[in-house]
Amino acid sequence: MWKRAAVVALLAFFAGCADDGINLFTVQDDAELGAEVAAEIESDPQTYPPYEGDPSVATYLETRVFEHILESPEIEYNDAFSYRVEIIDDPETLNAFALPGGRVYVYTGLLKYLDNEAALAGVLAHEIAHAERRHATRRLTKYYGVSFLLSVLLGENPSTVAEIAANLFVGAAFLANSRDDEYEADEYSFKYLRDTRYYPGGVKFFFEQMRDQNLIDTSRSSVETFLSPHPDPIDRISEIDERLNEANVPVVSWDAETRTDVYREEYETNVKTPLSTRTR
Ligand SMILES: [Zn+2]
Repeated sequence: MWKRAAVVALLAFFAGCADDGINLFTVQDDAELGAEVAAEIESDPQTYPPYEGDPSVATYLETRVFEHILESPEIEYNDAFSYRVEIIDDPETLNAFALPGGRVYVYTGLLKYLDNEAALAGVLAHEIAHAERRHATRRLTKYYGVSFLLSVLLGENPSTVAEIAANLFVGAAFLANSRDDEYEADEYSFKYLRDTRYYPGGVKFFFEQMRDQNLIDTSRSSVETFLSPHPDPIDRISEIDERLNEANVPVVSWDAETRTDVYREEYETNVKTPLSTRTR
């Protein structure tokens, strides 16, 4: 719950700021908002069917890849957030998303599509970055405006910030990530992966694979990707290639055979094979 005096102090502070990057919510609000939305997701298995096949897939994702990324010293909110990864059983959807507060959801369609573990790590690190950079509550602040949020938060009979935020968040269809948020999440995916066993450019592998298989439809966003259609996937590939060059890491593509840090066989054995043999 917000303390009125603190809010008034904040209001005075924000009055002098540009609205970019302002976040009217606390880190704890992010965690609570995420928990509220996660409960809504759990209560709607029609829309978000949980994967109930081979449990080793979830364990593998969580312990081998997700938790490994979270060991990066770049991660700030390991304690404040409830980081975990969930699998949604929808083989047609090439998507993943993150809630504020650290819950990440990945669709079986994306897991089956990806080619190697570095590609998966790139996606998961990108989603972790949305949570770490607190994009959802920053967007909520920007979208609804400081004055509107304050009027709600200071209103009579206030519910918790998390409840209000959850309603706003879901009401705005999860507030699609902005172009800048996507680029920033790619940038941080690269940063996090540099501290892991994985090829740090993994986040671009998905786009390269889509490109090489002619699945990028530039005319419209017919394919739901884990990334909104706003930033051009081709631009995002070159952005990552630039980072690789700057870091003196050889630029290779998603199907490179020469690197051991993409972990293709491990991915095949532990993710793709169990998913293809156990479908609902
Ligand atoms: Zn994203």
